[in-house]
Amino acid sequence: MDIAELRDRILKQDRRALARAITLVESGRADHRAQAADLLEALRGAGRQALRIGLSGTPGVGKSTFIESFGIFLTAQGKRVAVLAVDPSSARSGGSILGDKTRMERLSRDKNAFIRPSPSQTHLGGVARRTREAVALCEAAGFDVVLIETVGVGQSETVVAEMSDLFLLLLAPAGGDELQGVKRGIMEMADLILVNKADGDLKSTAMRTCADYLGALRLLRKRPQDPEGFPKAMTVSALEEQGLTDAWAQMCELTDWRRANGHWEGRRESQAQFWFHEEVKQGVLAQLQTGDAKAQIAELAAQVAAQEITPSAAADKVLNALDIRTK
Ligand code: GDP
Repeated sequence: MDIAELRDRILKQDRRALARAITLVESGRADHRAQAADLLEALRGAGRQALRIGLSGTPGVGKSTFIESFGIFLTAQGKRVAVLAVDPSSARSGGSILGDKTRMERLSRDKNAFIRPSPSQTHLGGVARRTREAVALCEAAGFDVVLIETVGVGQSETVVAEMSDLFLLLLAPAGGDELQGVKRGIMEMADLILVNKADGDLKSTAMRTCADYLGALRLLRKRPQDPEGFPKAMTVSALEEQGLTDAWAQMCELTDWRRANGHWEGRRESQAQFWFHEEVKQGVLAQLQTGDAKAQIAELAAQVAAQEITPSAAADKVLNALDIRTK
């Protein structure tokens, strides 16, 4: 299939064409990368935007249960929902967080839902780019909501937050001590904290935990992109499908306010710039790790160790050779 045909079929919301296009952007082959770039460029002008929702939480907190319940809640309202994942552990385990066929069984049968497992990749940078491109493809294919799931480890939360309009943090009911375990940086990224499993015996603990997090959120500096009262913490039960209507109402309130106040566009613009800078950095780093540059750096490193040259002078040599010196 040529790129023009693939483009047309994606715009007509053809799921098989979408799946095929995502396979193309996931490929590391140079000819595939060139085709993927052409396709993304051809789709760029379509001007379709989805609400991109990032979702993070440690394994076992209920991410897939939540995505299934929330996804079905959204499709019941006539929305088309795509689910993608950023999984830094997939490279190690060889599996992926969405790879397990038993996860999200109901949602995967929903004709208004599209679920794509995380590609297995060796480094987060590669996964980030492919996920970002997959998000763009889902938007072009007319999805209203794109959910991007990640496990709460390493840098993956930052990666997902930088490609989302809204960032949700899913937490489990816990004692006061565990509250300290959520890193401040992650709290600062969250637009909405959802304390899951607020059902049965866990309900009262969940409500206490929620109040604790609400208190912790109040201590953070107010962000310009938030109306009064945000970020919020609330309880949900993904299993019993409780609190979803309210959670969605909060997401809508926040996005409506951001759209009306220029923060929606502003965030997308700064995210686009962030990824541009990342790609430049990664491209330069990749160059340094291959061929002549790699050999030259190894040699200079040995000279630095032997104190034959200072670290700065050695670095200058490399940067001058690359001709990207700024001063
Ligand atoms: P993930 O690893 O974050 O994707 O978590 P899962 O969605 O696989 O859920 C882990 C476990 O928690 C499973 O046994 C779920 O049935 C359970 N679970 C998920 N959500 C809820 C909930 O709202 N209430 C209760 N009681 N259990 C839940």
